[in-house]
Amino acid sequence: MKSMQTLKNKKDSNVRVRFAPSPTGFLHIGGARTALFNWLYAKKTGGTFILRIEDTDTARHQENTIEPIFDSLRWLGINWDEGPGKGGDYGPYRQSERTHIYQDYAQRLLDDRKAYYCFCSPEELKEKRDAAAKKGLSFKYDRKCFGIPLEESRERIKNGEPSAIRILAPDDGTIEFDDMIYGKIKVNTENLDDYVIMRSNGLPTYNFSVAVDDALMEITDVIRGEDHLSNTPKQILVYRALGFSLPGFIHLPMILGKDGSKLSKRHGAVSVGFYREEGFLEEAMVNYLALLGWSYDEKTTIFSVPELIEKFSLEGIGKKPARFDYDKLLWMNGYYIRTLPAERIKPLIEKRVRDFLENADRSRIIIKTDEISERIDRIMPLISMRIKTISESISRIYPFFISVEYNEQLKEYFKNKEISAQNVLEKTIDSIKEIGNEEDFNSSVLEEKIHKLCEDLDIGIRKLTEVLRIALWADKVSPPLFETMAILGKDETLKRLAKYLKAIDGK
Ligand code: GLU
Repeated sequence: MKSMQTLKNKKDSNVRVRFAPSPTGFLHIGGARTALFNWLYAKKTGGTFILRIEDTDTARHQENTIEPIFDSLRWLGINWDEGPGKGGDYGPYRQSERTHIYQDYAQRLLDDRKAYYCFCSPEELKEKRDAAAKKGLSFKYDRKCFGIPLEESRERIKNGEPSAIRILAPDDGTIEFDDMIYGKIKVNTENLDDYVIMRSNGLPTYNFSVAVDDALMEITDVIRGEDHLSNTPKQILVYRALGFSLPGFIHLPMILGKDGSKLSKRHGAVSVGFYREEGFLEEAMVNYLALLGWSYDEKTTIFSVPELIEKFSLEGIGKKPARFDYDKLLWMNGYYIRTLPAERIKPLIEKRVRDFLENADRSRIIIKTDEISERIDRIMPLISMRIKTISESISRIYPFFISVEYNEQLKEYFKNKEISAQNVLEKTIDSIKEIGNEEDFNSSVLEEKIHKLCEDLDIGIRKLTEVLRIALWADKVSPPLFETMAILGKDETLKRLAKYLKAIDGK
């Protein structure tokens, strides 16, 4: 067994770590955190990061439940050195392709009398389980089939009798291991069940296949969620029975939702794919995931990937459960949108705009396809300080691309107000018309004109711009008004002012 000391000092490139998701159709936030910590540790130490798919559950073994996991990992930049699509010397990397290996190792255990065939029917086992539960005891198999000689078992199997294989848990021993996070763990083997390692359908159970694979793939450090801590003694039973040497164990603290219970769908979206769709940036996602259970100095929150690789250490992982805080993630995403170079953000916004226009009513589109890119360049400085997700950008900027419509509420908005919206609109139109060609139609000229108008009409700037804002944006909030007018251009600005004037006519 490795001591804490050797683990801590490990800086060589023999490090081999793995992420071993089951194909669930999506990458869970918790899984992504596990993958990231393994990956960072491999990068930090110059080790190898392995991806292994735990798809022994045939009913769920379908490509479409694996692909989204690959996609999300790639999106986060968590690339694997060995695994599906990549190969490696320790493959295959899908458990469904390794059945013969598990069968082979199970045979070895049978031959050594460290495992035995079990012919108990599911009904019989259920009865025993229920009886134990009634007494408030945890179920422990009574070894009814342990005494059956191997030859007799093989004969019964030949005759078609269904059988599982159970591992023999020694009666009188202890299993002890050092978890780097949770410390020394000691379990009396008496408390371990002779659990099933191979099912009657010839497929392995999780605790068996995971131990065989981790050993054969020469995993040096098993880094995974705390929910697997209780499985570790069962896996060590397999290591011992097969004479494999133990890896280091590092169980990561749980991730809780805001209310303090285990993070689940009840707390909102838990799939990485959802956040990608929502317009979160991978930089923010990786940064945020890294802080779920790890910290550098308790105060630094912003880390680029190279900084994470440089600063990450297993020692920085705490025992205390981490909290998944959507608002903090949102804040962090906003931070990255504000601070990353425009070339990084622009294509994401442009894609959303183009998708939006694809689905928009053609008659409302006010821009030519080849003008979209340039318009986005002009819009970006107006919104990048304000938006928190890329998808949010569309709701803030779509009137730069399609004409506006006023609802009844907006049409009546100025009805009983002191200000005469008609007068403001008419005078603004006159004033704006005076501005020469499109080059002069810029925000500073517009600002000057509108301020002058306020003086002439003896109206406060806020009151006046409220009329213009609603006319131009069909909303009470808009990007900065003069820049907005400049980007829309003289024709479109005049068109909208006139359109609102008409819309409120007679109201
Ligand atoms: N397939 C397991 C899971 O998805 C991984 C277990 C492990 O890392 O040992 O939870």
